[in-house]
Amino acid sequence: MTSDMAPLLSALDREHVWHPYASGIEPLPAYPVRSARGVRLTLFDGTELVDGMSSWWAAIHGYNVPELNEALRAQAERMAHVMFGGLTHQPAVELCRRLVELAPEPLHKVFLSDSGSVAVEVAIKMALQYWQGVGKSRKVKLLALRGGYHGDTLGAMSVCDPVTGMHALFRDVLPLQYFADPPVAGFEDTWDASHAADFERVLTAHADEIAAVVFEPVVQGAGGMRFHSPGFLRRARELCDRHGVLLVFDEIATGFGRTGRLFACEHAGVGPDILCLGKAMTGGMMTLAATMCTEEIARGVSMRPPFALMHGPTFMGNALACAVALASIELLLASPWRERVEGIEAQLQSQLEVCRALPGVADVRALGAIGVVELKEPVDMRVVTPAFVRHGVWLRPFGKLVYTMPPFIMEPADLSLVTGAMYAVVRDHCGPAAAKP
Ligand SMILES: *Cc1c(COP(=O)(O)O)cnc(C)c1O
Repeated sequence: MTSDMAPLLSALDREHVWHPYASGIEPLPAYPVRSARGVRLTLFDGTELVDGMSSWWAAIHGYNVPELNEALRAQAERMAHVMFGGLTHQPAVELCRRLVELAPEPLHKVFLSDSGSVAVEVAIKMALQYWQGVGKSRKVKLLALRGGYHGDTLGAMSVCDPVTGMHALFRDVLPLQYFADPPVAGFEDTWDASHAADFERVLTAHADEIAAVVFEPVVQGAGGMRFHSPGFLRRARELCDRHGVLLVFDEIATGFGRTGRLFACEHAGVGPDILCLGKAMTGGMMTLAATMCTEEIARGVSMRPPFALMHGPTFMGNALACAVALASIELLLASPWRERVEGIEAQLQSQLEVCRALPGVADVRALGAIGVVELKEPVDMRVVTPAFVRHGVWLRPFGKLVYTMPPFIMEPADLSLVTGAMYAVVRDHCGPAAAKP
């Protein structure tokens, strides 16, 4: 297909293809991408965009990565996929062993699935089946944090922020869960137990019904891009232990280095009973997720009829995805990823600071390879997306958040393009000045 076919592609896309969170009749136009390499996307008309999104935070090594391509090719020549019921294979076994080595102790069991939302569903089912297994079948509720995001399937949605998670839209089918305010203390703030007062109040009042606490450690991603104190993780661990409640960390966004640690819970030095992973696990190349748990939970789940975790995706343990995930993890660990993420953090902190003085800006923050400019009013996507493209940058804000989560391999000059575009687009198109014609 040549560049003159771009209009046809766009027209057919508009006619037949449904995009995420998009209208089925009047969608905003989607930009056709011809190829991607390093940190650049090439559109059909030849435009090159520096990608500040890592394809929803997953492509940590950038695009068209030789090591990942090779892992995919080699595995495809052996076997792309076999069912995981009753069969197993080397890529899945090696991946699970590697995840157990890397994840916080004592998470020794791994359940593979196809997407983050499903990994969260599996975590919920593990927690519920565990309590049934140990004879406490009253424990069927979950406690989550306001401002959280855990995926788009119904179970995962039930623990998303009740407002931005649009619980009103599905009121009659979503299970009702408990919610607490996220901790008051930001990432750098000195921790005090009173910062978790609301969480403690809800947990203590309903511990006999609560199967598990579920939250995103340190960084709440798609629910608002807020960072909280690692002290909260330690406090949540303590309270969950004291009240007999399981602790689930959703590290689908934070896992594999995004916050400057391999897993965000390492900032706090505590681990969960159940851990969800996804997004960056395959370096953004294949769809794969994992739910990890302790031996104790595995035993509880498997002790009574039906003596099994009742979940089994058709494409569970897809060999191509497992092989790519292994290659991606080895590539990450062999790279100076810590230094790179630290460098990105320092650059985001210094270069985004100027945004704070803009009239439309409410807050500016950066942690690891995450840079956020929070606005006072929601962005107009019809205006900001083309504006970013004119600046040669791919960013996709949502609500009041203009943010970047660049690939870890992004060079300082390219990151400057991204932060420069964030400043210029916010200055020109977000806030009071932008309202004028
Ligand atoms: C993206 C995300 C999910 C959902 O993952 P999908 O692969 O989109 O289903 C769940 N939890 C968190 C924290 C996420 O960032």
